[in-house]
Amino acid sequence: MNHPEERVNALDIRGLRLHLPGAARPVLDGVDLTVAPGETVALVGESGSGKSLTSRSALGLLPPGATTGGSVLVDGEDVLTMGPDRLRALRTGRAAMVFQDPRAAVNPLRRIGDFLTEGVRRTGVLGKADADRRAAELLDAVGLGPELLRRYPGQLSGGMLQRVMIAGALMGDPVLLLADEPTTALDVTSQAEVIALLGQLRERFGTGLLFVTHDLGLAAAISDRVHVMYAGRIVESGPAEALFERPRHPYTAALLAATPRLDARPGRLAAIDGQPPDLRQDLTGCAFAARCPYATGLCHEEAPGPWPVACHHPLEGNPADD
Ligand code: SF4
Repeated sequence: MNHPEERVNALDIRGLRLHLPGAARPVLDGVDLTVAPGETVALVGESGSGKSLTSRSALGLLPPGATTGGSVLVDGEDVLTMGPDRLRALRTGRAAMVFQDPRAAVNPLRRIGDFLTEGVRRTGVLGKADADRRAAELLDAVGLGPELLRRYPGQLSGGMLQRVMIAGALMGDPVLLLADEPTTALDVTSQAEVIALLGQLRERFGTGLLFVTHDLGLAAAISDRVHVMYAGRIVESGPAEALFERPRHPYTAALLAATPRLDARPGRLAAIDGQPPDLRQDLTGCAFAARCPYATGLCHEEAPGPWPVACHHPLEGNPADD
């Protein structure tokens, strides 16, 4: 039971472990993170790092056969112990997700108005008149007119449709918004508009935002704090600016070197060599050792301690300055 004046986090993940059938090691291995109301936190990593699984766990969207440990509290309630009815109510109320590809998330044969209102009407959160009014208000909040309520998804550009998705995610007045690579499928102009919009809406509605991306530059631009994930663990955490200017984990530094920067010197962009470790193989030592230019014998034998910097030999300065 929370004390009345105690501030409940929008999201509070503690020691989350997730095993998949056939995997030799946990796909998520002791993930800890919080998102306060009105705060934006970014989760950054390559594909397969566990960042999307972590964010989806906040909606109880787990892969078939997954077993879990730890806790995932949304607005103080553990999602991992919820039954189907409470999960459905959660997904149309306190937590919502904006996905990467808006076209894959809508039924092309249903009008935008039906898409926006069906979740809150089905679960009884709002009646028809209130749902219609809220849909029009939220379209306005994302910079679109009420005439769109009668249009079909195919009549909208990708950028407009992603705005509709964001309006839809806000229908249930969520405390937590999960945005999983929400700009990847958009053109550059729409990307910038959606990022600016998410920032405005967070301030206006006080929603906590967990922003999932492979792009460390984008993460630093939009968020207050950043967590970097590798092979199912958070390897470095910190304020966005500090982490972007002075990464201490070699993987963060490698991600940064692979991120286009406006102020970068020519020829400094470098892909990260090698692949993340296969889930079918158990790991001894640091999961990044096979790809890390700073790896020593110790790194191959012993897993480094927990974050803020899960590394035996953290960097002291920004390697871009070397
Ligand atoms: Fe590299 Fe060793 Fe640090 Fe792992 S623990 S990131 S291998 S230096």
